[in-house]
Amino acid sequence: MADFDVVVLGSGPGGQKAAIAAAKLGRRVAVIEKRHMIGGVCINTGTIPSKTLREAVLYLTGLNQRELYGASYRVKDEITVTDLGMRTQHVIGREIQVIRSQLARNHVTVLHGTGRFLDPHTIGVSGDDDGAEMKITADRIVIATGTSPARPDSVEFDDRTVIDSDAILRLERVPETLVVVGAGVIGIEYASMFAALGTKVTVVERRERMLEFCDLEIVEALKYHLRDLAVTFRFGENVAAVERRGSGALTVLESGKRIPADCVMYSAGRQGKTAELCLEAAGLAADRRGRIEVDDNYATAVPHIYAVGDVIGFPALAATSMEQGRVAAQHACGEPVEELAELTPIGIYTIPEISFVGKSEDELTREKVPFEVGVSRYRELARGQIIGDSYGMLKLLVSSEDRRLLGVHVFGTGATELVHIGQTVMGCGGTVDYLVNAVFNYPTLAESYKVAALDAMNKMRVVARLTAEM
Ligand SMILES: Cc1cc2nc3c(=O)[nH]c(=O)nc-3n(C[C@H](O)[C@H](O)[C@H](O)COP(=O)(O)OP(=O)(O)OC[C@H]3O[C@@H](n4cnc5c(N)ncnc54)[C@H](O)[C@@H]3O)c2cc1C
Repeated sequence: MADFDVVVLGSGPGGQKAAIAAAKLGRRVAVIEKRHMIGGVCINTGTIPSKTLREAVLYLTGLNQRELYGASYRVKDEITVTDLGMRTQHVIGREIQVIRSQLARNHVTVLHGTGRFLDPHTIGVSGDDDGAEMKITADRIVIATGTSPARPDSVEFDDRTVIDSDAILRLERVPETLVVVGAGVIGIEYASMFAALGTKVTVVERRERMLEFCDLEIVEALKYHLRDLAVTFRFGENVAAVERRGSGALTVLESGKRIPADCVMYSAGRQGKTAELCLEAAGLAADRRGRIEVDDNYATAVPHIYAVGDVIGFPALAATSMEQGRVAAQHACGEPVEELAELTPIGIYTIPEISFVGKSEDELTREKVPFEVGVSRYRELARGQIIGDSYGMLKLLVSSEDRRLLGVHVFGTGATELVHIGQTVMGCGGTVDYLVNAVFNYPTLAESYKVAALDAMNKMRVVARLTAEM
């Protein structure tokens, strides 16, 4: 008999949920994780620290209160990395405790160390302290080892002036100037946080636009806000070299521009953490970005080995990783599984934040699906006035044929929470009529759904009337 029914490599959102789901089904489960990484990238260097840092930035700068109390309003004049780090460390500590106790309650064995395949059913675990390797066997194995920031070979990282998104959490002071290379989600989230702190940020992006998967109008609104916080965008530009200098680093662009800054943060994608796994011993291989291929049930080419979370690639989000972990464990334990829900929301914690679910205008146009747009602006809502958010907006995309909700796009305060109302209506196949007739608490931002729904209905009515009159 194997030592465990299920062994999970990695304790991030994917690994945790896989382990707990298998334990709930009565299986003997072990999780292998490096000593200081319980909770994975999510808790230690990714989602949780970055979102907590954002909250600390918003609170200490008083940015969200400035429409009401004036442009110079601040809770603290000199914001230090200690002020910011305190909140982050507090939340990380609590979250680790929660995960440890969840694993313990469900009788999941936690083995500290680095795991690697010795054969398709045997894992070697090298202890973090003495390096000695222990062997364990398992009937089923789930790989949930996540990713780490990709570091281009041509760039010399020193974790002080030339850094990646892990090292940005360990800065010794808030930089006065910062270059962010890469305007993906992580790059632009950090760019907006440092801009809010008063850092002069330059974003360099090889593509002509950023966040291409988001609604264009909303991305334009975000760019406007970031420019207002003194962010400079260099789109369509490539970095030729980053030179470390005495007091910072010089970023040289292929176009000849030179950008001196205290710090340069590279946010140039992520690499699957498969190099240490000795996948070949299990009969598996990863692609050049370290990702592992899986089927609809998250099984790899070796049927008793599963892979979930960021290590399998898109969408590489905590929420989807959790669900993949749960589904993989169900399948591994021979339980019936349902496919992952089609409608997954995307949340981008820039300042202001963005969230959406369903299709964008561009996608619907490409797919030749006729639609109408209903818009609500926070400044026309009582709650928008109360909280001092005049720029927020919610946009509904409604089918002109059967009035079904096809997409919801939100920008501004509470966007990542509000989107779930639309997701629920869409998930239940609802039409815009539901939102027109529903009564919402007043004064709330949720009311924006009703306002946008009425707007869409009115536009559709006008189009129908004018068409009939032609
Ligand atoms: C800066 C940043 C911000 C983010 N913000 C968001 C957000 O707002 N919302 C969101 O949904 N997602 C966000 N993400 C993405 C999210 O963090 C990931 O999708 C999620 O953490 C992936 O979970 P996972 O289970 O794949 O593994 P991870 O969380 O990556 O954890 C993998 C774990 O496996 C361990 N491991 C690796 N190799 C081995 C080995 N050989 N042996 C033992 N253990 C091993 C690692 O130590 C690590 O702890 C963010 C990511 C970053 C970097």
